[in-house]
Amino acid sequence: MRILITGGAGFIGSHLCDRLLADGHEVLAMDNLITGSENNIAHLAGNRRFMFIYHDVTNYIYVPGPLDAVMHLASPASPVDFDRVPIQILKVGSLGTHNALGLALSKKARFLIASTSEVYGDPLVHPQPETYWGNVNPLGVRGVYDEAKRFSEAITMAYHRIHGLDVRIIRIFNTYGPRMRLDDGRVVPNFVGQALRGEPVTVYGDGSQTRSFCFVSDLVEGMVRLLQSDVLGPVNVGSPDEITMLEFAKVINRLVGNEAGIVHKPLPVDDPRVRQPDITRARATLGWEPKVTMEEGLARTIDYFRSRIWQ
Ligand code: NAD
Ligand code: UDP
Repeated sequence: MRILITGGAGFIGSHLCDRLLADGHEVLAMDNLITGSENNIAHLAGNRRFMFIYHDVTNYIYVPGPLDAVMHLASPASPVDFDRVPIQILKVGSLGTHNALGLALSKKARFLIASTSEVYGDPLVHPQPETYWGNVNPLGVRGVYDEAKRFSEAITMAYHRIHGLDVRIIRIFNTYGPRMRLDDGRVVPNFVGQALRGEPVTVYGDGSQTRSFCFVSDLVEGMVRLLQSDVLGPVNVGSPDEITMLEFAKVINRLVGNEAGIVHKPLPVDDPRVRQPDITRARATLGWEPKVTMEEGLARTIDYFRSRIWQ
């Protein structure tokens, strides 16, 4: 297949490039590097089945030649970005998704949208099945991301219904691993970076809020399975192993050997209290479930950050 990955120089996008190239496909990565980095794909430079296209997908997208699939991952994804680049997030979720859909339609390509657990907002149903419609504050700081992704899902379904476009919707839950930016602001790079520097780890609020962390190779496996299946979705892909942020901070301090402890900082506005995917659908339709344990995934992530932190 010849596959376009928008956001291909990002954390998840670059791992997806690696996987699809390893599977024998031709991959075009498109990115404007707003939160991604060419370092993430530098190792692919000599590969004749790989091409990088520097482009902002909120502008009309031109790609020469045929395409079999468009995988639309372009979007800043860290809560730090919700404050920093809210308009870019809304534009990439709306205009960018519209352009990517139009491209897929013109190429008669399959379209996969990288949606998110944030469509469930601060959930009132726990764990979250795909049938839950969510609890989102459209006016809050997180609303820019949540509503952009909800719009992305809605316009994807409209293209499917009106134009018969072949679409897939994946709802990604918290994913971590090598190639996250150290200054990304999300909890894994924050905690690991602080622990490696011997600083206290910053737990927001009392740390009783929960998340469920999936290692990136497991997520990529779920994305590839969904793309190749005949399941439209939405399908939750994430780890069902839920942990409080206080407990998570202790795990990271233990794995790194950090004795500086924990400090508490204010809880961000609208920070979801709980999050855990119900992955019954992914198990039943894709035969997918995560394989990498938290200790194993964190060890690999810590090694990566250790190799980067002093550069
Ligand atoms: P990331 O920031 O590393 O990757 C996003 C990439 O999109 C970056 O390379 C960025 O430069 C690029 N991008 C942003 N706006 C663009 C634009 N207008 N034009 C072209 N490129 C643009 O983040 P990530 O964690 O790899 O997330 C990838 C996707 O997965 C995002 O759509 C995100 O919403 C989704 N997702 C991620 C998680 C997670 O836990 N990592 C969870 C849910 C959903
Ligand atoms: N968090 C934290 N300390 C940090 C960064 C994040 O306690 O230094 C918490 C944050 O409040 C949230 C959870 O960790 O409850 C996950 O945050 P992240 O930014 O990774 O993404 P989210 O899941 O909220 O989108």
